[in-house]
Amino acid sequence: MKIQFTDTHVKLENIAGSKKKNRQRLNWIKLAEKGRIPTQAKYTSPRISFDGENWWLSVGIKTSRKLKPMRELKFVCKQAGHPYTEGVGIDLGIKDLAIISDTTKVRNINKTRTVRKLKKTRRRLQRQVSRKYQMNKKGDSYCKTSNLIKGEKRLLRINHRLANIRANHVHQATAAIIGRKPSFICLENLNVQGMMKNKHLSEKVQEQNLYEFRRQIEYKAHWAKIAVVIADRWYPSSKTCIECGYVKKDLTLSDRTYVCPHCGNVIDRDFQAALNLKRYGETELSKSAS
Ligand SMILES: [Zn+2]
Repeated sequence: MKIQFTDTHVKLENIAGSKKKNRQRLNWIKLAEKGRIPTQAKYTSPRISFDGENWWLSVGIKTSRKLKPMRELKFVCKQAGHPYTEGVGIDLGIKDLAIISDTTKVRNINKTRTVRKLKKTRRRLQRQVSRKYQMNKKGDSYCKTSNLIKGEKRLLRINHRLANIRANHVHQATAAIIGRKPSFICLENLNVQGMMKNKHLSEKVQEQNLYEFRRQIEYKAHWAKIAVVIADRWYPSSKTCIECGYVKKDLTLSDRTYVCPHCGNVIDRDFQAALNLKRYGETELSKSAS
C-alpha cells in the first residue's frame, strides 16, 4: 500500500484511488491529530484499526534514534529534577506504582479523584446498560434501542479514557526516571502469575500496568544506553534487612513497616525493597564486569 502524509492529512492509495484531476482532494483523509507522524519518511507496515470509537492508523518509520530528548517530568516523581549520580533500585507495587531507592516515588494513578470518579460513572453506566438489555429481551434475541446504543458508546469512551490516563501515567513516570540518567536500573522480577491467582490483587495489578512499566523501562533504558538488571525471582527484596542482611521469612504483605529482630532496624518495607534492589544491581554488575 502506498501511503503519503502531510501534517494534517493522509493519502492511502488503496482506499481512495480517484485519478481524476478534480477529485485529487478527495483522496486525502483528514487526521485527528496534527503533526503526530513525521512527513518525508519511509513508512513500513501500515495498519488500520477501529476500536469502536476511533479509527487508528499506525506506520513504522525508519529513522536514526534521536527524535526528541526525554523530558524531566517533575510532577510525577516528588523531588525529581537533578540527574542521578548512581544507579537506582525500583520496587513496584500496588500502594504506589513505584518506590525508588533515592526516596522518590510514583503514585498510583488509580487512587486519584479523576480516575475514581470515572470508575464510578462506569459502574453506573454498566448497570444501566445491562438493565436495558434485560428490559428489551424478546426470547433469545435482543432489541437494541437507540438509548442502549448510546449507553454502550459512552461506556466505550470511558474505558478508552481510563486506559489513556493509565498509559500516559506510566509513560511519564518511566520517562522521568530514564531522563535523570541513572547509571543502572534494577527491577524485581514480578511474580505476576502468583499475583493473578489472587482475585482481589489481580484487578489491581492489571490497573496498575506493572508489566507495561517494566517493558517501558527496558526499552527506554536501551535507547538511553542504561543497564537494566532484573533481580532473580526468588530474591527476597522486601524481606532482607538492609543493615544486617537478616531475612525475615514471616513478613506478610500487610506489614508495611519492617522491624528487624536481629539488629533493630526500623524502615518502610517498600523503601527497603528498593534499597536492596539497588544493592543487588551493584553486585550483579560488578560480577559481570570482573
Ligand atoms: Zn537487621
